[in-house]
Amino acid sequence: MYRQDDEMIRYIDTHAHYDDERFDADRSQVIGGLLDHDVALIIDPATDLNSSRRVLELSANYPNFYCAVGIHPHQAAEASECDIEALSVLCDPSSPGADKIVAIGETGLDYHYDFSPRDVQLANFRRNIRLALKHNLPLIVHDREAHQDTLTVLREENGFDTRVLYHCYSGSAEYAKELTELGCFFSFGGAVTFKNAKKFEEIVHAIPIDRILPETDSPYMAPEPVRGTRNDSSNLKYIYPVLARLMGLSIEETAAVFADNTARFFGIREFD
Ligand SMILES: [Zn+2]
Repeated sequence: MYRQDDEMIRYIDTHAHYDDERFDADRSQVIGGLLDHDVALIIDPATDLNSSRRVLELSANYPNFYCAVGIHPHQAAEASECDIEALSVLCDPSSPGADKIVAIGETGLDYHYDFSPRDVQLANFRRNIRLALKHNLPLIVHDREAHQDTLTVLREENGFDTRVLYHCYSGSAEYAKELTELGCFFSFGGAVTFKNAKKFEEIVHAIPIDRILPETDSPYMAPEPVRGTRNDSSNLKYIYPVLARLMGLSIEETAAVFADNTARFFGIREFD
């Protein structure tokens, strides 16, 4: 568990894409440096089958690096039922490194970009939910401008039989309340630091603190004051203080709450 007597806060990143090509030149230095200094734990969610293989390999290289495997809505058009079968093999406890897979994702629906046709996104999301239930893993959900369909599919596929995390939550406070009653968790990243981020006050107040998780979505979504640069988990130092203020806690209390929530959601008991 997180050691509160450390003089320095060690951060938790529940959502960072270190398999992204923007880290090709310096991946091992970046990850090694983070885990040696600022960061206690990193979870890297995949975006397709190849990315799932890459995040599994990264997880094998570092003790406090875990992963999620799954198919992102952007990649849904290139993925098939066979890819889900291959992911299922990766998740089997007899497969090497399967103990480092702590969730299925990221998956869901993106009606903002619509990179994959909506019917294909819906079918892909359903397959990912079934995969999570089959392996008794929680789900990391990406819902961009698709709130109603995301909820309908989760309900129809019994997605709430497992734990569900809305990553980079962007819906309303009312919707967050509804999802809270269904047992959902929520993660927040750089967007809470942006100048127009007033809406997060209302959203965070609508969610019990035992359901909130920190993330960066690296290499995307760098927070203020480094907005627009390549993001990495060291930038949690800009995100934790904002979330702490919104939750009415000290940074130390916030770090302890996030460590506890991470343990409960992902089932990771020992880190740092
Ligand atoms: Zn992501």
